[in-house]
Amino acid sequence: MQVKGKAELIRYTSNPESTIAAAARLCYSSDCADKVVSDSDEKDNAKYIAMLRKLNHLSPFEHASFTFSITGVSRAFLAQITRHRIASFSVRSQRYVSESEFNYIIPPAIEALGKDAVKTYVEQMETCMRWYGDWQEKLGGAKESSNEDARFILPNACETQMIVTMNARELMHFFSLRCCNRAQWEIRDVAWQMLEAVLKVAPNVFGSSGPSCVDGSCSEGKKSCGRAAEVKERHRKLLAEIGEKLEKINNKL
Ligand SMILES: Cc1cc2nc3c(=O)[nH]c(=O)nc-3n(C[C@H](O)[C@H](O)[C@H](O)COP(=O)(O)OP(=O)(O)OC[C@H]3O[C@@H](n4cnc5c(N)ncnc54)[C@H](O)[C@@H]3O)c2cc1C
Repeated sequence: MQVKGKAELIRYTSNPESTIAAAARLCYSSDCADKVVSDSDEKDNAKYIAMLRKLNHLSPFEHASFTFSITGVSRAFLAQITRHRIASFSVRSQRYVSESEFNYIIPPAIEALGKDAVKTYVEQMETCMRWYGDWQEKLGGAKESSNEDARFILPNACETQMIVTMNARELMHFFSLRCCNRAQWEIRDVAWQMLEAVLKVAPNVFGSSGPSCVDGSCSEGKKSCGRAAEVKERHRKLLAEIGEKLEKINNKL
């Protein structure tokens, strides 16, 4: 069955902005840590967070973590997202879980070729399923020891699911690389979903997150997509959707 990439924010550090701002205050205060935290005024969070970003003093952002469930993504996606070493991953196992009826991702460019192309693609996926089933049977049926070798015949299109946790600093870095038009479409689509989710809970932290063109100029040099205006507009619309308040914060950063 065809599936599509979906990222949902399932847990995060409570009061992420207060946590980050309190960590920043402590750096500049002679009071004891407990007092710094209890005296913290939420009204000042935006100011502290903006200052941290301006000074590139990014370690306080590591105190807020965000956990996502990611479903409907390919093994090709998995190879890319797991390059982000500061993140934590739990991924559905192809040893413990049989892939005899695996779901798959159809690239939009193949869908755009029309019904015949999609039909061919789906038939190819079904062929892979048959091949997988044949190897599973030859290797002793659906069990761990068979699955671990039968899986070698599976395509990159095969769906995987995972739980991913990143702290705010890593997320900002991730968004700069993966929301960029230079990133591959599948991880880019999921990265924008993740950005939207965290913007709703920590707008001061992520208000200017995204590819470098959103908050300055493109860092891709000759490889630039040349569509900075379009990307900025997408980002602006996302902020507007999330709220006028957020737009004001973003302008301040
Ligand atoms: C458009 C695009 C194309 C790509 N193409 C390819 C490709 O063709 N081939 C390929 O192999 N990869 C490719 N990648 C993956 C890329 O090389 C990185 O592995 C991936 O983006 C993770 O980035 P990172 O290492 O900065 O992030 P993370 O692993 O999340 O690390 C975050 C930051 O922590 C620091 N850090 C982490 N680990 C170390 C360390 N061991 N030593 C020092 N500092 C560290 C670095 O500052 C790093 O930027 C591509 C990525 C993108 C976005």
